[in-house]
Amino acid sequence: MKILVLNCGSSSLKYQLIDMSNEEVLCVGLVERIGIEGSVLKQEKDGVEGKLIVEQPMKNHQDAIKLVLDAVVDSQYGGVKDIKEVEAVGHRVVHGGEKFAGSVLITDEVKAALEECIELAPLHNPANIMGIEACEAILPGVPMVGVFDTAFHQTMPKSSYLYGLPHELYTKYGVRRYGFHGTSHRYVSQRAAAMLGKNIEDCKIITCHLGNGASVAAIDGGKSVDTSMGFTPLEGLIMGTRCGDIDAAILPFLMEKEGLDAKGLSDLMNKKSGVYGMTGISSDFRDIEDAAAQNNELAQVALESYAKKVKKYIGSYAAEMNGVDAVVFTAGVGENGIGMRADIMANMDFLGMKLDEEANKVRGKERVISTEDSKVKILLIPTNEELMIARDTLELVK
Ligand code: AMP
Repeated sequence: MKILVLNCGSSSLKYQLIDMSNEEVLCVGLVERIGIEGSVLKQEKDGVEGKLIVEQPMKNHQDAIKLVLDAVVDSQYGGVKDIKEVEAVGHRVVHGGEKFAGSVLITDEVKAALEECIELAPLHNPANIMGIEACEAILPGVPMVGVFDTAFHQTMPKSSYLYGLPHELYTKYGVRRYGFHGTSHRYVSQRAAAMLGKNIEDCKIITCHLGNGASVAAIDGGKSVDTSMGFTPLEGLIMGTRCGDIDAAILPFLMEKEGLDAKGLSDLMNKKSGVYGMTGISSDFRDIEDAAAQNNELAQVALESYAKKVKKYIGSYAAEMNGVDAVVFTAGVGENGIGMRADIMANMDFLGMKLDEEANKVRGKERVISTEDSKVKILLIPTNEELMIARDTLELVK
């Protein structure tokens, strides 16, 4: 079965066409600037040089998906000859609230439930829903599956997901920790168990998804028991442009001092903070590393703070699970940041974690990067959320 995996953002759309008979990626693409001037689709096919580039106005996701469906049958860069070969579509959906603890076949009831989750993820869920509706219109009768970023973390106990706030805020508004990047944490934890040669039911794993957005998860017996992102993807680690954990009392203080309203505060914390805000340089860790190498003190401190924060979460999750078999690094910074991994894992031998400096000199490859005598295995595992979405889609459509 050939499955189209769609990840719709507000003005972008990432997609992959995967042949599930051998999990081969037939083509992969990205549409940018949907609904704004300069819309463009770019698609690549493994083994074929160059790119298919389609520059054409796309006023909405339906326009974009029409072009995606043309592109996947392109004679040079496409993955199939006839669109009828695409037998199912898997959609990434950011927020499933408490309604979805796993992936689901999309029905009218599911769509209604997704609408109800919009207020929890106003920036993300509307785009995901637009993608679903556009596919329904263009590919009628083709089954679709929703795979949620939040679903994997629905196994967290109340002691992990309830905040120290009045309980009625949870019952009235659903204010609780949901956690995100669940598809990635699930994928890399399954790979980690395979690399350890153990059943996941017998493993305690800490997964560090360090990308532009970043989160750590504690996974005990294959189930998420805690994670650093919370009610929204703002909580937890310092990220590219997000502040992560801060003293909540800073918010009313800044509202008064800077005359900020709710939107102003949200923008400040989500878009102007993180390593970008700390340094004024960039949200990209490569730029921060370059600046730090040239003795920029703010860049050096931002990297140190970032590493310290990840370290704190690893330590606290090891304590929470009463031990850990493996720590996994994944996503942009986790897969490529050789120096960052070394900083995070420095002086962790008291926890039984020893990084092998030579083995750590690698980017984007599945590999054990701890020493032979490290009690806890340290693993580098490139994430593959698209494959996970395609696998779930296959499972539900079969
Ligand atoms: P992601 O959100 O997983 O795509 O990760 C994107 C982030 O990964 C970028 O913003 C960079 O900060 C980081 N990144 C990518 N390549 C490298 C690299 N070679 N070294 C350090 N960080 C990198």
